[in-house]
Amino acid sequence: MSSDTVESRSPQDPDEVVQVLPVADRSAVSRAVDAARDAARGWASGSALNRTQALTAAADQLAAQSERFADLMVREVGKPAGEAAGEVARGVGILRYFAQQALDPDGQTYPAPDGASLLMARRYPHGVVGLITPWNFPLAIPLWKAAPALAFGNGVVLKPSPYAIGCALELDNLLDGVLPNGLFSMVAGGAEAGEALVDSVDAVSFTGSVDVGRQVALAATGRHIPVQAEMGGQNASLVLPDADRDAAAASVAAAAMGYAGQKCTATSRVIVVGNPEPFTEALADAVRGLGVGDPGDADTVVGPVITEDARRKVLDAAEKARVDGGSFLTGGRAGDAHGHFVEPTLVTGLSPDAELAREEVFGPIATVLPARDVDEAVEISNGVRYGLVTSVFTRDLDRALELVGRLDTGMLKVNAPTSGVDFHAPFGGEKASSIGPREQGKAARDFYTSTRTITMSPLGA
Ligand code: NAD
Repeated sequence: MSSDTVESRSPQDPDEVVQVLPVADRSAVSRAVDAARDAARGWASGSALNRTQALTAAADQLAAQSERFADLMVREVGKPAGEAAGEVARGVGILRYFAQQALDPDGQTYPAPDGASLLMARRYPHGVVGLITPWNFPLAIPLWKAAPALAFGNGVVLKPSPYAIGCALELDNLLDGVLPNGLFSMVAGGAEAGEALVDSVDAVSFTGSVDVGRQVALAATGRHIPVQAEMGGQNASLVLPDADRDAAAASVAAAAMGYAGQKCTATSRVIVVGNPEPFTEALADAVRGLGVGDPGDADTVVGPVITEDARRKVLDAAEKARVDGGSFLTGGRAGDAHGHFVEPTLVTGLSPDAELAREEVFGPIATVLPARDVDEAVEISNGVRYGLVTSVFTRDLDRALELVGRLDTGMLKVNAPTSGVDFHAPFGGEKASSIGPREQGKAARDFYTSTRTITMSPLGA
């Protein structure tokens, strides 16, 4: 270990240090990877039933400690309590789901050309998978990567965000109790620890910002190892004139501002087709009605942003929007409370080319953009470099079906918020939002294993 440390602090009370850990230097990272590689051999060659049992035991233990994990998440990353409890429950679900997938078929057979041989394609684990994760889903993201990696026979080394090391350490402790020694471990640190991990593992799964994801993907490709990177979004909700106005406004407000907009699936652009005024007023009312404040309070929807830098970034984006001709329907200022709070901010009057309508801010700020018709709405929606998730609010099913093929997006929701992830369905985006195969659901096996094609012929054939 190096003598440096990394610490996480509570966003609602930045004087509170939540966790301090030594930074893992290159040799510590490589020791963790070596230990995982040693343990992974027996893990992969042993019974799949063992893997099912271990992941089920992890799910049981997480369920038994859900309150403790949720409280820690509230303190460490400022996630509103209701969402934190939901994330822990989702973590339990992810572990149970992949525990069962360990028993799914692991290959296919094909008719052999000679009629006598056995020709098959079987999936094998890579060895050790490096996971590099952001802070915003400090339990669900490490788990939706680690659970399939482990279920299919890999060892895992996790490099969590420095802002979420407390949650990662608790997860590490929990998994240590149910897995073979060294099979799963975490290394703390920032970019250097992440780079060291990419340099020593057999595959990398990354979630985070576009710039870092691209660097990670380039480094991994340079080593010829499989990589997947899930990155940012500039997600749009298209509101058609026939939409249920109040229901759409409530849904969009929560998707834009919930957890202070710090979800890759948050709504950042609200594209209103036709006369924008009635919907825009309903949306502004819905945003004003959201509970803002202490994330520990049960009725809080919008808590703090993660750091002072993040708060500055949101306020700078608001100021730039003002200079670009935008006006504020709500917010535009820092919150009054101690901690990194920003008022939920809804901006109107911007061109789709304005920076706020093009780049991810990752805070409680969204812009309303009018569109003459559906064609223009599609053009605006597709006119950014991202393509993670898009939602459409309409009662016209034919229209919705037509839009499915026209929107550049990895996920499309109709009459539902852009935010929200289903761990049993493939998850990922188009364009700059993603690199590599999809995560989660049955798609996870594609990334965490590779295919070996095997021919077995009768002796003397
Ligand atoms: P980030 O890119 O700053 O950091 C992500 C991780 O990468 C952290 O663990 C960080 O320490 C590590 N890292 C930083 N530099 C590195 C380097 N050079 N090499 C290797 N690792 C390095 O992202 P963040 O601020 O933690 O998270 C917010 C971002 O994550 C947003 O852009 C958001 O959209 C995105 N996100 C995407 C998804 C998704 O599934 N698409 C989900 C959640 C968050």
